[in-house]
Amino acid sequence: MERIVLGDVEIIRVLEYQGPFAPAAAIVPALGEPAWTGGDAALAPEHYDPASGAYIGALQTWVVRSGGRTVLVDTGVGAGRERPSTPMFHRREGRLPELLAAAGVRPEEVDVVVNTHLHADHVGWNTKEENGSWVPTFPNAVYFLPAADRAFFDPAAGHAARSTAGLDPRRWAEWDLVFGDSVAPVLAAGQAKEWSGSLRIDSALVLEETPGHTPGSSVLRVESGGERAVFVGDLMHSPVQLAHPSCNSCFCLDPAQAAASRLRVLERAAAEGELVIPAHFAGAGAARVRRQGAGFAADWVR
Ligand SMILES: [Zn+2]
Repeated sequence: MERIVLGDVEIIRVLEYQGPFAPAAAIVPALGEPAWTGGDAALAPEHYDPASGAYIGALQTWVVRSGGRTVLVDTGVGAGRERPSTPMFHRREGRLPELLAAAGVRPEEVDVVVNTHLHADHVGWNTKEENGSWVPTFPNAVYFLPAADRAFFDPAAGHAARSTAGLDPRRWAEWDLVFGDSVAPVLAAGQAKEWSGSLRIDSALVLEETPGHTPGSSVLRVESGGERAVFVGDLMHSPVQLAHPSCNSCFCLDPAQAAASRLRVLERAAAEGELVIPAHFAGAGAARVRRQGAGFAADWVR
């Protein structure tokens, strides 16, 4: 799905990368190979490579044109970032601005940036390097940041959480880098708006907290002309989690909460006919979902 129209809202997919990320067993640790290759969940070759056992995913940004405004949903990994604990992202040279230009979007035109959460691959192009410092890539945009993620990841505010989180200190060190080069400059420029609970952006777009993957993980719901969609961020990394909605990615910080949020959002999507648009699905990228057995099945939108 490269472009879809829902009522008065236009959605454009800007794909930065599609291919192997990591072993599938590492991405969704609770699931073995049969979940990826068996029966209705046969995910090769678009989402799984049986030869190598790799999870196939995507890095992408979604452009939403609504009410005369241009909204970006997540901003990828960025360019030239120090991410020593994440080889795939370390000093990666992402090309989002060029890809946006090809899609007809200039940086000055972007009115709203939504970060569904504050992980490295969702905030990278929030900023760009200019004269040796990081500045907002989108000079006229309001950046919506989940307040719970700012509280958790901001080195100036999150240290209380560190003592109880029990996480590898290298992850904290890298999150500090992410916050420093991709979030702090937006705050310093006065372009950030923190929100919690839910936030209506316009008559068609509403942000809603769905915590678990991170404390402030959120979804963006779209409703226009009786048609609906939901950008689910990292609530799922692969369609294997449609068939197995209780199974988390290895990146979910609160497993029980993440599973509950995923199930709640998928149940609503199935009941209300929302088009589900995740951050990292390869292949078609978006799907309508329906109940099947203990999980859900996808009808891909191509
Ligand atoms: Zn992600």
